[in-house]
Amino acid sequence: MVTYVIDPPPQAALPVAGSTHVFPVRRLYCVGRNYAEHTREMGFDPDKEPPFFFMKTPDALRTDGKFPYPPGTSDVHWEIELVVALKSGGRNINKADALGHIYGYAVALDMTRRDLQGVSKKMGRPWEIGKAFDDAAPCTAIHPASAIGHPAKGAIWLDLNGVRKQTGDLADMIWDIPSQIEYLSGLWELKAGDLIFTGTPAGVGAVKKGDRLKGHVAGVADLDVTVV
Ligand code: MN
Repeated sequence: MVTYVIDPPPQAALPVAGSTHVFPVRRLYCVGRNYAEHTREMGFDPDKEPPFFFMKTPDALRTDGKFPYPPGTSDVHWEIELVVALKSGGRNINKADALGHIYGYAVALDMTRRDLQGVSKKMGRPWEIGKAFDDAAPCTAIHPASAIGHPAKGAIWLDLNGVRKQTGDLADMIWDIPSQIEYLSGLWELKAGDLIFTGTPAGVGAVKKGDRLKGHVAGVADLDVTVV
């Protein structure tokens, strides 16, 4: 039995729809520029710049419907995303085997301090200041694949105060979910509890306090978040 010198931090976890049990979270991998129109709106060419990955921290997940406006920024953007939750992992997973590692799916916001991220890009610095801040990942419960299957197409959208801002289709991902798992598992050993944020369609923009963000992924879940 291990005895810690301080109280151990709580295990990050997400609720599971239809269950009283929760899903323990290990890592948050996020794919950048995985929808062509969003790649273009960020000023890049999807034909020349393939998607890439960064991370957020597990303790940034929030499921209480609140997003506290973060410090140090005046340009915080929404990015609605489908999230994959892994029940197992490994190295060098083939695309054909990838779906067998998925426990379920959720809908989340990859909130981004765009102004600070922009400085990081310009200066060639890491992205954590823009992506991995506190509360940066409002998320729904996980919906098990045993209940909803494996969504590969269908609408993904986000409304800001009742006005549609982002619209896309899961089928428009440049790297589909099996390809993301194959690629990631060649660079890291994926493990049970890992989440993958699968990218956002075009239409990102800035929030302010009091805004209501409603997100949707067809066949998965609806997310409802207020900026506080
Ligand atoms: Mn994103």
